[in-house]
Amino acid sequence: MSSKLLGSIEAGGTKFVCAVGDLNFKVQAQTSFPTGNPEETMAKVIDFFSAYDISAIGIGSFGPVDIDPNSENYGKILATPKLEWRGYDILSALKQRFKLPIFLTTDVNASAFGEYTMGAAANVDSCVYFTVGTGIGGGVIQNGEFIGGLTHLEMGHTFVKRHPDDTDFEGVCPYHGADCIEGAASGPSLQARTGLRGESVTEEHDVWAIEAYYIAQLAFNTRLNFAPEKIIFGGGVMQQEHLMSRVRSIVEELNNRYVDMPSLEEYIVNPLIPENGSATVGNFALALRALENNGE
Ligand code: ADP
Ligand code: ZN
Repeated sequence: MSSKLLGSIEAGGTKFVCAVGDLNFKVQAQTSFPTGNPEETMAKVIDFFSAYDISAIGIGSFGPVDIDPNSENYGKILATPKLEWRGYDILSALKQRFKLPIFLTTDVNASAFGEYTMGAAANVDSCVYFTVGTGIGGGVIQNGEFIGGLTHLEMGHTFVKRHPDDTDFEGVCPYHGADCIEGAASGPSLQARTGLRGESVTEEHDVWAIEAYYIAQLAFNTRLNFAPEKIIFGGGVMQQEHLMSRVRSIVEELNNRYVDMPSLEEYIVNPLIPENGSATVGNFALALRALENNGE
C-alpha cells in the first residue's frame, strides 16, 4: 500500500496542473501547461500520467461542471464561456485511458478539501474556501462532505450591495454585470476599473477599499449562511497582503456585533498550504478516498 501513487488534475480555465503524489500527499512529479482545446489538453494530461503507475486520480475542474455521479451529464463541462469545452466529457476522456477510481469535483471544492485535510481548516469539521482570481468561486465542506445537490454551489455569482463610490461601474460578469461578486470583485474587475492588472495596482489606490467591501460582504454572508469554522480566501487577488485586514475590519462593521465570531485574524484567513498547493493536496486526498471506497 505504501508505495501507491495518486494523481491530481487541476483543470483550470487558463492552465492545467497535473501532479503525482504519494500517500502522504507529497508531490513526486508535476507539470503544467496552458488550457488549449479539450482534445490536445487531455492528450497532454494522459501523456503525463502514462509515465507513472498511479492507483487513483482526483480532478478539480473549472466549471460549471456536472459532478453528480447520478446525473446523465456526469463528468461534462456545462455552460462555460469557453465554447470548445462546452459539453466536453472530461471524465470519460480519462476513464477511457485509465481504468482507475477517479474523483471529480470543482476546482474550489478541491482547494477546500486540501485546506480541510492539511491546511488552514485541518483542525475543524467545517470550512468555506473562496478563490478570488480570474473568477470568484467557493466550496463548502461540512464533516468531510461537500455542500451541494442540484448542482455544485455558485457562490461567485451571489449578489452584493454596491459600494457608494462604485455606482457607475458596469462590472465584468456577462450575466450580472457588477451585481454579482465575480462581476464586481474578480481580478478582471480591478483591471476594468484601473486599466492595470491587479498585481500592478499600488496599495494606496482607492480601488482596494471597494474590493475589500465586496469581499467582506462575501465573508459576512458566508458566516451567516453556513456558519463554518474557517473562511479561507485564496487566488491571485488575495496575494495583496493589505487586503485581508481591510476585509476583516469591514466584516466587523457589517456584522455590527450581531453574530458571535472568533477572532477574525484566525477566522478569515489565507490558505496555509504553500505554493498554491491546496487543490493538489485536495485532489490527492479525494483520489485516496475514491480508492478506499473501491475496497482497497
Ligand atoms: P486563475 O483564477 O486564472 O486560476 P489567479 O488566481 O492567479 O488565476 O487569478 C488571476 C487574476 O488575479 C488576474 O486577474 C490577476 O490580474 C489577478 N492577480 C494575480 N496576482 C495578483 C496580485 N498579486 N494582486 C492583485 N491581483 C492579482
Ligand atoms: Zn455573475
